[in-house]
Amino acid sequence: MSVWSNPSFFEVRFKCIKCGICCVGTEMELLPEDVERIEALGYRLEDFAVADGDTLRLKNVDGHCVFYDPTTASCTIYEHRPIGCRLYPLVYDGREVYVDKTCPTWHTVSRREVERLAPYVAKFVEDSRRTRIVIRLRKGL
Ligand code: SF4
Repeated sequence: MSVWSNPSFFEVRFKCIKCGICCVGTEMELLPEDVERIEALGYRLEDFAVADGDTLRLKNVDGHCVFYDPTTASCTIYEHRPIGCRLYPLVYDGREVYVDKTCPTWHTVSRREVERLAPYVAKFVEDSRRTRIVIRLRKGL
């Protein structure tokens, strides 16, 4: 079983105010498990993902994530959202995991949450570098 098979485990416990800032101009990477979970909802890969080398990223429409609904300021696939969205505002720059201060409530992420999830943030970034290849292999393309 994949380490990513329980998406809710990767949700950062903090005071997200659902402002939607992180849904604007998204560059969020997708894992193979994210692609499969979202495809199971009936979306086609090209509906929600764009290729960036061997990485797949969430697609933007009108400057925001394709799944963000500006009229309700909410994510239309919230229960099925990607692992990277659940791990945010934790990010990894290739050297260290830190809390992204672009998020207005970044300061409500506890040191304990950073420590709990830091190993997975780094693994997420590593694994998402191969998503396109893994998806192609799984589909037998
Ligand atoms: S920017 Fe932060 S507070 Fe705003 S929706 Fe994203 S995670 Fe929540």
